[in-house]
Amino acid sequence: MPRYIHDIDGVPWFIERDSSTFPGQGFALEVAEILHEEQSEFQHILIFRSTTYGNVLVLNGIVQCTERDEFAYQELITHVAMMAHPSPKKVLVIGGGDCGVLREVVKHSDVIDSVTMVEIDPSVIKLSQKYLPQMTTAIDHPKATITITDGFKFLQSASGENYDVIITDSSDPEGPAMEFFETSYFSLLKQALSPQGVVIMQSSENVWLNLAYLKQLTDKARSVFANVAYCQCYMPSYTGGQLGLVVASPDAAVDLRQPQRPLPQQQTFKYYSPEMHRASFVLPTWAAAELHQH
Ligand code: SAM
Repeated sequence: MPRYIHDIDGVPWFIERDSSTFPGQGFALEVAEILHEEQSEFQHILIFRSTTYGNVLVLNGIVQCTERDEFAYQELITHVAMMAHPSPKKVLVIGGGDCGVLREVVKHSDVIDSVTMVEIDPSVIKLSQKYLPQMTTAIDHPKATITITDGFKFLQSASGENYDVIITDSSDPEGPAMEFFETSYFSLLKQALSPQGVVIMQSSENVWLNLAYLKQLTDKARSVFANVAYCQCYMPSYTGGQLGLVVASPDAAVDLRQPQRPLPQQQTFKYYSPEMHRASFVLPTWAAAELHQH
């Protein structure tokens, strides 16, 4: 049996368990077929076809995306940041090897000049092309460039680049993505950003699973950025049914919770809408108080 796959009553099940991040609980999907397993230079990669969620990409035992619900996360992380900026020209994606965020960014190709994606592991891109082809449709887009390197190192030499939007679509804070959840990373983001720029990053957590961790993460962001907010995406394949995103800007005047321009014409959105943008920042009362979001 590949790692993370368990035999339950003669049926193979993938089980996501993380004793440090969400102790005492897990998330499971019934496996129809194992499609690929490898230990790349950077992480353990598993791809399987589930009986009800289509093909599933798993890195180091954590679900990254499933064909059934990937659009929810890709659309929210991309369009909240892109629409919170009145005119995003220069866009950077850190991570994002499944290429779903890239697919969403180029929906704004009437506005953007360029989008650069910086992914550390070429295996994730190659395998996504094979097993998740609907996510990799923007790989050859004329405004897109893919750079294979460590996103943290890339940002260390990106000071003054004036990106309008930076989307950190990383894996969880372990292995190669560890540094993305530290104050030093927020400082690098700020140095690479234009004065009215917007950054967004997945938080690897949600308010039910670990609010104390999210408080600490948003506090780190607040120590660097004048304007910080937290929004959530709900979808079944992330543990706890939702995933949070930290959104920030050096500009205290920008209202990150409001779209700043009309949605691009002739594009399809299955999760994102201006109403969903605003609603994603509305938190349950106890969580809003903890995260200073009212
Ligand atoms: N939506 C996903 C989630 O949160 O579950 C994340 C998707 S994407 C597959 C995450 C990508 O970040 C992976 O392809 C991984 O290789 C990449 N990554 C991790 N550490 C990185 C680093 N230091 N520099 C660039 N990319 C990195």
